[in-house]
Amino acid sequence: MTIRMAHVLPVLTKQLAHWHCFERDAWVCHDFPTAELSENSVNMIAATAARCVACSGKLSFFGRRLAYSYHRCRDCGTLQLVPLPDGRELAEAYARMYAASAHIDVDPETSRHTTRPYHEAILRTLLDYRVAGAVAELGGGWGGLGELLIANGFSYRGADPSEEMARHCRHRGLPVIQGDIAALSGESYCALVLANVFEHLVDHDNWLTQANHLLCEGGLFVSLQPTAHFAYLAGQLVRGGISKLPLPAIHQEFCPPWHAVFFSMDGMRALTERHGFALLDIRPAPQGRARGITGLAQYTLECVNRLGGHVLGLRWPLVVGHLFVFRKVHEAP
Ligand SMILES: [Zn+2]
Repeated sequence: MTIRMAHVLPVLTKQLAHWHCFERDAWVCHDFPTAELSENSVNMIAATAARCVACSGKLSFFGRRLAYSYHRCRDCGTLQLVPLPDGRELAEAYARMYAASAHIDVDPETSRHTTRPYHEAILRTLLDYRVAGAVAELGGGWGGLGELLIANGFSYRGADPSEEMARHCRHRGLPVIQGDIAALSGESYCALVLANVFEHLVDHDNWLTQANHLLCEGGLFVSLQPTAHFAYLAGQLVRGGISKLPLPAIHQEFCPPWHAVFFSMDGMRALTERHGFALLDIRPAPQGRARGITGLAQYTLECVNRLGGHVLGLRWPLVVGHLFVFRKVHEAP
């Protein structure tokens, strides 16, 4: 059974309800029950209270998708939901519903095919940096990266919050447990890898502290994720710059509550440096490989991006995501 976002939202928006709800296309602030505030007024209140999760900069309203609002940091360009979804409720939704949500391919075989370029990019990075010890993956999904790493001789262990996905991986012989990063507490790895996971997190400080503790001295944290520059550009272009129009999904890009934050490159650096990491490398991420016309479009964009990247490097704006490599340089408190 396909569980649509409309069914998931009531569970996830309990926290939102304290501040506002979406009724008859008007925003109503529950702290002022008799006052129907204009969209701009409510957005101004939310943006004033919240700060950028990456650099603590001031936020400006960017756009709305379903009952959620994305805001943009005026300093580092990071895009994030305001307010961020409640972590505990989100964790429950991932455990029970995520595998069947429309956000990802619900067929494991299709998903492994679609995400293969991401996984190959991460494998290449681990080989380039000569990672020789144990590797842990958080949010391993249907197991595509785990199988690729094991086939290339890596000692691999994975954790995924989705009960169904973790079970599927174990049936395929992969050492994957159900849970988030806390499930690996007390263990030690030479590298932590994430494939399109970091944009889903909502408790970044706590997560990065735990990641730091899981890594051995000099260990690598490798994350491939959609970034802010393309999301901002696509959101602006598709709406003709009119921020009152709802944000388009754009192939699951603006997909709340799952996609909570699109970090900018500066934002990722600022955030991770606070938790004992040094940025070593940023590489343009490849496109996924869906089947059919979508796959053709993805391949075409990747070719265009290769050419653009040769000319403008990381300033080339059509790259949907990037692969970040960080090294643990000191123990987080
Ligand atoms: Zn910022």
